[in-house]
Amino acid sequence: MIQSPLIPKPLAYIDGRWRGADDAGRATIAVINPATGEQLADVPDLGAAETTQAIEAAARSLGQASSIAQRHDWLRAIESALLANKDELARIITLEQGKALKESIGEVEYAAGFFRVAAAELDREEAEQIPGTIRNAKWTIRHVPAGVVGLITPWNFPLAMLAKKLAPALGAGCAIVTKPAELTPLTTIALWTLLEKSGLPAGRANLVIGQAAPIGDTLCAHPLVRLISFTGSTRVGKQLMANVAPHIKRLALELGGNAPFIVFDDADLDAAADALMSNKFRCAGQTCVCANRVLVHEKVVDRFTQAVTTRVAKLKVGNGLEPGVDMGPLINRAGFDKVNRHVNDAIANGAKRAFGNEPKVPSQPWGNFFPPTVLTGVTRDMQISREETFGPVIAIQTFANDAQAIQNANGTPYGLAAYVFTHDSDRARQISEQLQFGHVGVNTGTGPTPEAPFGGMKQSGFGREGGAEGLLEFCETQVVATAT
Ligand code: ADP
Repeated sequence: MIQSPLIPKPLAYIDGRWRGADDAGRATIAVINPATGEQLADVPDLGAAETTQAIEAAARSLGQASSIAQRHDWLRAIESALLANKDELARIITLEQGKALKESIGEVEYAAGFFRVAAAELDREEAEQIPGTIRNAKWTIRHVPAGVVGLITPWNFPLAMLAKKLAPALGAGCAIVTKPAELTPLTTIALWTLLEKSGLPAGRANLVIGQAAPIGDTLCAHPLVRLISFTGSTRVGKQLMANVAPHIKRLALELGGNAPFIVFDDADLDAAADALMSNKFRCAGQTCVCANRVLVHEKVVDRFTQAVTTRVAKLKVGNGLEPGVDMGPLINRAGFDKVNRHVNDAIANGAKRAFGNEPKVPSQPWGNFFPPTVLTGVTRDMQISREETFGPVIAIQTFANDAQAIQNANGTPYGLAAYVFTHDSDRARQISEQLQFGHVGVNTGTGPTPEAPFGGMKQSGFGREGGAEGLLEFCETQVVATAT
């Protein structure tokens, strides 16, 4: 069982108080270390009744208006608390999620950045006056808090995916009900231990832990919840849209991707290979912005494949807490089976395994380490090209010219992230203008940053996280016309 000063007890947090399964007559959910199978904690399996209590507490907390200065102080206090507890938070992330410890440390710093940026953007909340008199009135534009908001987050970045929502929501003056992924609730419990000391009023930020459907359905149906911000699969995103439709609620959806990583024949192949390594193997390939389709000009594909395999061969796979480990296990057997299915389908349809051992299905449910793999001869119609693989597999396709590269890259219902590698800045600009993706990296494999808005096009969702737009996502725009 986990021992951590940030998790005195593995409980939920509703209306300013810690809540366990016993208080609610509920069962518990076991949290398992995906690398070792160790049971880390039993967390309460709360449901619709506790979600309703959390929503009502959140609504009550809004009765007490908060000034911009006060919200600024909360955000700064949370940012400082995250950074002061970076090592312990990182250890908890690795224990329950499996990623390498150095990545978990990076995740805490990244998460803290969203609180820093939201604090810096708060002056956007000040009312603005349109100059002059229009229709015999003075016009004022105000950004008012959306109200009670539901935040639903996935297991791949248990802290950062929540920070992207929590920081702007608190900054905007909203009250929050959060549901973390059942697989990784411990990081959020640790975060709430820190939130408790940040001066937030009771009910302003609630943490409800439990199975997805009863909590999600309650958030969708309850009239006091005005907005739901969700990061997860496109499948669940569609379900949420259907669930909120009868209630006309706002949604922000950050859904799946199928990122193309395009390497042109004039690219610096070593730089592109380095960028692909950090982009693709972060979190064992379980990120929505990682390259899913590596499209390489046919003239340079052999050299690029060589550059990539040399690097992949150096990756150390293992328990993320062990020194020197680059990549941990996949989150669970379902994830492992999906990656395996994609690789087998590709090979059955003519792709070649340029690097990587045959994956061994573990005899126990945990320890789903998937060998880093490079496939060549991949084509557009294979499963690995059509669906997000969410695993450590580089799937290389070729193209003959720019038009083919763009057509292939855009030939997906998803539009989250894309990457372009070329020496020619005009070509880079032209290509990036044609790509239907919310985030485009040019000669870089970097994903989003707290300072810039990030989000998808097409079936990757809508709404933006980060920067000024991230804050406005949690506001309603109200216009007041006052007769002169
Ligand atoms: P993944 O495939 O990455 O696990 P999911 O979309 O299944 O992504 O999960 C992301 C988050 O959505 C998790 O917190 C999960 O519990 C939650 N979730 C799953 N199903 C529902 C649902 N029906 N309503 C609300 N949230 C849900």
